[in-house]
Order: sequence, then C-alpha cells, then structure tokens
Amino acid sequence: MNCPACKNPMIILELNQVEIDYCNSCKGIWLDSGELELIFSNSDQKSVSESFISKSDHQEVGRRCPNCKKKMEKVEFENSGIILDRCSNNHGLWFDNGELKSLLKTSADSNNKMIDLLKEMFGE
Ligand SMILES: [Zn+2]
Ligand SMILES: [Zn+2]
Repeated sequence: MNCPACKNPMIILELNQVEIDYCNSCKGIWLDSGELELIFSNSDQKSVSESFISKSDHQEVGRRCPNCKKKMEKVEFENSGIILDRCSNNHGLWFDNGELKSLLKTSADSNNKMIDLLKEMFGE
C-alpha cells in the first residue's frame, strides 16, 4: 500500500498481532477499521466510529484512501481538535505525523495494552 500523503510505499509494523501500515518518509500511520477497534475499543463499549465526528467543512486538503482510492472525509476525535482522514467506505483512518501520539495522550484508558504498545513505539 502507498502512503496517502506522500505516495511512498508504506512498511508494515506488527504490534501485538496487529498490523499497522507506517510511512517511513512522512511518519504517517494508516489503521484499518479492525485495527482501530482493537486499539480504541474501551471499557465503556462505545464503538470507535461513535468517537469520530464528521468535519466535512474542514479546510485541510483531502487525502485518498490507500485501499479504494476514494477521497477521505475529515473527522475529529471526540472534541480533541485532532482532525483525521477517514475512508467513507470504512476502510480505515489516516494519522499524520504526531496525530496518533496526540490522540493517545487524550485517551484516558490506561488499561489498554495496545495503547501502551503504541506509546512505546511512537511516544516520547
Ligand atoms: Zn508518507
Ligand atoms: Zn477506502
């Protein structure tokens, strides 16, 4: 798969049996929907998609889904101010460099093993 931001081939990182596509050039991260559920499903059973609010009026340039090439929509995670790109065919979510890190900081669920692993890899 190629990076939706800079078009370079992405590498696959394996984290606790979850595969993550990572761009070594621009440091962006692609998570498909199943991976997102694993990472962000939390104890209160709120589904991941409910955590993202559509921001169709956002000015940032739209990217294309690396899977179906369709233009992605802008979504905001809860009310964090973090704007991400989401495939409207529900293939997954694109995080620019630093966005996943910021999002992990806002996620209060410290019992989530995936979040710990991601923090280890991408956090400071
Ligand atoms: Zn890239
Ligand atoms: Zn797609």
